Amino acid sequence: MPGRLCIIGVGLIGGSLARAARSAELYDDIVGSGRNVANLQRAVELGVIDRYYSDPAEAVQGADVIVVAVPLGAMEAVFERIAPALSPAAVLTDVGSAKAGVIAAAERAFGGLPTRFVPGHPIAGTERSGVDASFAELFHGRRVILTPTSETDPGATMVVHALWQAVGARVMEMDVAHHDEVLAATSHLPHILAFTLVDTLAGMSERDEIFQYAAGGFRDFTRIASSDPVMWRDICLANDKAVLAMVERFQRDLSKFTELLRAADGERLKEIFERAKQARDRYSDK
Ligand code: NAP
Repeated sequence: MPGRLCIIGVGLIGGSLARAARSAELYDDIVGSGRNVANLQRAVELGVIDRYYSDPAEAVQGADVIVVAVPLGAMEAVFERIAPALSPAAVLTDVGSAKAGVIAAAERAFGGLPTRFVPGHPIAGTERSGVDASFAELFHGRRVILTPTSETDPGATMVVHALWQAVGARVMEMDVAHHDEVLAATSHLPHILAFTLVDTLAGMSERDEIFQYAAGGFRDFTRIASSDPVMWRDICLANDKAVLAMVERFQRDLSKFTELLRAADGERLKEIFERAKQARDRYSDK
């Protein structure tokens, strides 16, 4: 795939994809765009991109593949900005963590879904943000889920599939609604639990002592509560229905747990721990 790759939002995900594409020598030219010139200059200094444009409409001109890697809440404004400048031959994709909202935003911004738009989501990341946190190996062995719509040209899907495969990812396709439900369970709920737990503890008067004595388990469980608040606000709002369904389901199980503990029902508490341990061990063995 020679030609030009354009990354809008040169942060952790966009920067990592640019670095990976560069080390695999996939494109002749990699350009970036974003709001913050200092960040874009830093991306050039680090060799992540070759050049940048503050205006995304300029950045997409002449690009063969455009990857929009901004927070979910900023996708629509970016789509609106690039809509008049997008070449019909260019392949457009995104990396947003919830897909139905991005697709609806694209439909509004472009006045219908472009046939060369392939919604995507790499299941890879860290709790860090920004171009300094990006690294070329982020997608090695990780899954990338594409959710092409009925309008999507299969040729465009093949281009995006090939890009992710070339940077080491395992690519699969999924229905949009199914993607959003699965991710609400496997990623969005765990992040909400980690953020809420840390917030609860931080609101306690004994917080200094609590954090001082926090051990490995606390660190493992709450690492993801250091993730970017704007990104997580946007994900919760964009995937609210599926997230609410999972939060309510979890609340029911937590209430059941609370009742068992009140009743000092050790046998049934142990059953919960055993079931969970078996499920977790099976999953980590894989
Ligand atoms: P990030 O490191 O904060 O990067 C986002 C980039 O977008 C920044 O470099 C920022 O650059 C730019 N940006 C922010 N707001 C913008 C706006 N209003 N208009 C234009 N550009 C804007 O975040 P990230 O973790 O890479 O996440 C980016 C996307 O990837 C999100 O949609 C997220 O849902 C998805 N995602 C994240 C992960 C993860 O674990 N982090 C995993 C999979 C998918 P400027 O400040 O220069 O504008």
